Amino acid sequence: MTGQVDLDSYIDAGAIVAVDLINAFASERNTTDSPQAEVIEKILAVDPASVARLTGADVPGFIELAQRLRQIFQLLHREDVDEAAAILNAMLTAHPAFPHLAKDEGLWRLHHHPSDTELVPEWNSICAENLARLIGAGYENRFGICSAPECDRVFIDLSKNRSRRFCSIACQNRAKAAAYRQRQSTRPSV
Ligand SMILES: [Zn+2]
Repeated sequence: MTGQVDLDSYIDAGAIVAVDLINAFASERNTTDSPQAEVIEKILAVDPASVARLTGADVPGFIELAQRLRQIFQLLHREDVDEAAAILNAMLTAHPAFPHLAKDEGLWRLHHHPSDTELVPEWNSICAENLARLIGAGYENRFGICSAPECDRVFIDLSKNRSRRFCSIACQNRAKAAAYRQRQSTRPSV
C-alpha cells in the first residue's frame, strides 16, 4: 500500500495539473513570462479536449484554482490534514462529479462531467478529486514544498523513501551550493 507502484497509480491528470497550476500561478518563483492563457494551454495539454475548449475568459478561474490548490499543499505540508480535507470537501461539493458513460468515436468511455460543464468548474473537480484520492489512500505526507532558498514551488513526492526535498535538480544544486558557501564562511580562519 505504501509501495512506489501504488502511489504512481493514484496520480492522474488532476494532481499533475494541480502541481503545474500552482507552480505557474501561485508561486513566488515563477519562471515563465509567457502569456497566462498560453501557460494554461500547455498545462492542460494532458487533456486535448480541454485545450480545445479553453478561452481567455477561463484564465482568472484557473488562477483562482491555483491559489486554492496551493493552500491545500501548504496545509498538508504543515500536517493540517483536517483543514485541507475541509477545503477539498468544499470544492467537491461545489463542483460535483457525475460519472457516466458516453460514446467517444464509437467507444464507450467513463466521463465524470456532463459535456456542457464549464472548463474551470470541471478542473476544480478533477484536481480536488485526485488530491482527495491521494489523502484517502494515506498519501497526505507526499505533498511537498521546495526547501531551496527563495523557492516555494510544490511537488508530489514519488520517491521510494519519501526523501524528496526540492522541486527540481536546479533547486537541489542551488541549495547544495548555498550550504557549501555557508560552511566555508563559518569555518574558522587559521
Ligand atoms: Zn525549488
